[in-house]
Amino acid sequence: MSEEDKIIRIAIDGPAGSGKSTIAQNLAEILQINYLNSGALYRIIGYYLDLKGINPKDLKSVERRLEEININIRNNQYFLNREDVTDLIKDSRIGDLASMYSQISLVRNKVNKIIKNISKDTSIVVDGRDIGTVVLPDSDIKIFLTASIEERAKRRWEEEKERNKNSSYQQILAEIKRRDSNDSNRSLAPLKPAKDAFIIDTTSLSIDQVLNKILNLLKEKKIYGD
Ligand code: C5P
Repeated sequence: MSEEDKIIRIAIDGPAGSGKSTIAQNLAEILQINYLNSGALYRIIGYYLDLKGINPKDLKSVERRLEEININIRNNQYFLNREDVTDLIKDSRIGDLASMYSQISLVRNKVNKIIKNISKDTSIVVDGRDIGTVVLPDSDIKIFLTASIEERAKRRWEEEKERNKNSSYQQILAEIKRRDSNDSNRSLAPLKPAKDAFIIDTTSLSIDQVLNKILNLLKEKKIYGD
């Protein structure tokens, strides 16, 4: 992209296992713009607060500990106080911690500030749960990815097998159900599509098929392409 090009912001939201991180990362590569995984920010914070034994109800301690957290991102690698935690935070236990601590508004404010700061003067694809609804409501395009719960659990199970984790499919299915319920029913920034989001069901689509759909939408809306 040249300097004169307009800044574009793309919000991709959806539940766990809907494919949003893979799609968002690939899309950013195709468009040659930045990619930010907001779930990773919640995971880093969840990991740290748990490490320090912080009770989510003890807001004073949450606030104090949040000040100790410094997050940096370089080449899609995530650093917590200079330690590269990119792989560590992929663990499903950390996903559960992220889901628990992400219900605290102090935590959400910290993450939202980071996202807004990073995206203020650069073209970016951001994925998450509330990017189109709350964090970047003026995104150029909002995509909401869904898939059947069985398909999402299958994808996560396959990912875990690749990382040599031996959780069973049933365990992962139960985790995803718990996470869907937490993320959709919380009062703060619940998981839901923005009114003007394009909803894509990825259950029986390949990564390329989803990417093509999004690229076509970008063309139709004259955001990218001829
Ligand atoms: O996307 P990922 O599964 O890595 O996110 C982990 C958790 O972080 C989610 O289950 C959700 O509770 C929280 N999250 C959020 N808002 C976002 C991104 C993630 O509340 N924008």
